[in-house]
Amino acid sequence: MSLGELKKDDVALVGVLSDANSSYMPGAAEAPAAIRRALHCGSSNLCSELGVELGNHPRFNDVGDRRIEVDTADFMAIESYIHEITERGAMPLILGGDHAITYPVMRAIGDAHGPVNILHFDAHPDLYDDYEGNPCSHASPFARIMENGLAKRLVQVGIRTLNTHLSQQVERFGVEVHEMRSLDLASIGSDMDGPVYISFDMDALDPAFAPGVSHHEPGGLSPRDVLDIIQRLPNRIVGADIVEYNPARDINDMTAMVAAKLLKEIAGKMLQNSS
Ligand code: MN
Ligand code: MN
Repeated sequence: MSLGELKKDDVALVGVLSDANSSYMPGAAEAPAAIRRALHCGSSNLCSELGVELGNHPRFNDVGDRRIEVDTADFMAIESYIHEITERGAMPLILGGDHAITYPVMRAIGDAHGPVNILHFDAHPDLYDDYEGNPCSHASPFARIMENGLAKRLVQVGIRTLNTHLSQQVERFGVEVHEMRSLDLASIGSDMDGPVYISFDMDALDPAFAPGVSHHEPGGLSPRDVLDIIQRLPNRIVGADIVEYNPARDINDMTAMVAAKLLKEIAGKMLQNSS
C-alpha cells in the first residue's frame, strides 16, 4: 500500500534504512528486509497471541522502506516521513535502522499527539550528551528527546549499562529506569496515563535469545518478559519502533524471528487498543 492511502487508526509498517549513527558496527540498515522475511516465513502464522489476525487485516498496512542516510540535516527527512503517516491519523510501526532514528520520529509523534509516555526497552539508556563527539549518535536519542520535552514520561526497561555520566543524565531528566538487576516485571507499564510510544532496541533481550545485535550485553530480558509487559498494556499505542537488529551478526535468522514475533504482538496490541 502507498502512504497516501493510509486512513485514521491504520497501523503503518515502515522501514527506515539508516545506520550512519551506529558507534561500533553498521548493519542495522539491512534489518527491515530480514524482519519482513521472518514475518512472512511459512514456519509461523500472522496471528498475534491475543487473537489479532494481521494477514489481510484492513488496518494493518505495509508501506515499504525508505533509505535515509542520517546526519543532522537528514533527521528532518525522517521527521517529515513519519509526519506523512501521523498527519493521516495512522500509527507508525517502524523497523530500524539504528536507534538514532527515534529522536526525529518522536518529533513527528510529538507534533501529532503532544508529549506521550515512552516505554523504552534497551540494555542501554541512550542518554549520552554526545557519544564520541556525535550528538546524533544512536547512544544519544533519549537525551535529545528529553531536552526537547518530547516525553510525558520516559520509562526504560532492561537497562544494565549505567555508568557515572548516564546515571547523572537519568537524574537530570527524571528518567524512570527499571534496571535488570532489580527487575519487577509486574510493576512496569501499569500506571501510565494517556498514549504510549514503544521504542524497542533488540539488545534489551539477552544475547542468548537475540545474538543479531551490534552490542552484546549479557544478563538481559527474555522475549516472554517483553511480551508479558506489552500484552498487559491498557493504553492506546500511537507508534512503535523495533531498532538495532543487525542481520550480519545473526545466527540462523533466530533474531529476525524474535523481531518478527515482537512486531506481531506490538501490531496486534496497537490495533486492539485503538478499536
Ligand atoms: Mn542498546
Ligand atoms: Mn538503543
